[in-house]
Amino acid sequence: MTEEFPALYVVPTPLGNLADMTQRAIDVLRQVKWVAAEDTRHTAPLLKHFGCSARLLPAHEHNEEAAAQQVIARLNDGESVALVSDAGTPAVSDPGARLVARVREAGFRVVPLPGPCAVVTALSASGLAEPHFLFYGFLPARNKQREDALREVAELPYALVFYEAPHRILETVESLVSVFGPERTLVLARELTKLFETIHSCPLGEALPWLNADANRQRGEFVLLVSGAPAAGDDGEGERVLKLLLDEGLPVKQAARLAHAITGAGKNAMYELALALKES
Ligand code: SAM
Repeated sequence: MTEEFPALYVVPTPLGNLADMTQRAIDVLRQVKWVAAEDTRHTAPLLKHFGCSARLLPAHEHNEEAAAQQVIARLNDGESVALVSDAGTPAVSDPGARLVARVREAGFRVVPLPGPCAVVTALSASGLAEPHFLFYGFLPARNKQREDALREVAELPYALVFYEAPHRILETVESLVSVFGPERTLVLARELTKLFETIHSCPLGEALPWLNADANRQRGEFVLLVSGAPAAGDDGEGERVLKLLLDEGLPVKQAARLAHAITGAGKNAMYELALALKES
């Protein structure tokens, strides 16, 4: 970090466990002159804990444009600035994106630091094996808008990741069941990195009884992850037909092509499965 080339550093902060602060985040916060923070009262103790003497600038969703101008003024004076939110990575369901855009437009370097982020933390322990995921963030607060929003993503074959506040957890899970049905897998990742961290996985249809069985399960902060929509033809029918064809002695390639044509199951998936069945 050199003041010859001042920059805006985007610095993730812990989700709940102070030990998750990276060494680089500490170094940057110790070296910058200014920290733009979502809530300066929240960030002041964090800076104190890590021995950082930077001055604080408020940068929340209601003053982001003005805050951006202040940050640019500091950068023009040759002073680097760090951007933090209350927890996790700034600009991920948090203020910061507009400020970053203005700083980039003004021609200054924006340096992102990797670090705590609830979506990635939850996903890594979810066990959902889809090759793709869609990070949705917060759903609308009202039932009708929430369910409309869910319908828009209901057919995607990607794992879906939502953020939710504790006071809405029950109604959001109700909406998930009503739009996605009872069979898809739900992973509830609660209080990540904290004392009562809980990661529970179940079919959507079992989620409300599980939450209602113990009021403590509804407390704290949540990431909700839902398995992707099953692909068309992925109802086991492809595998059943494929097995029949292989049992009849058809070669792998032909059996896979026919199973795909008959059931609509993915051609490559049928070929891979046929190879695996042959081997076993
Ligand atoms: N910028 C943050 C990030 O990088 O994840 C997200 C901030 S957003 C305002 C807050 C939401 O993140 C919470 O409502 C919850 O959905 C999720 N979250 C934050 N901390 C969490 C934790 N310790 N456990 C589970 N979810 C958490």
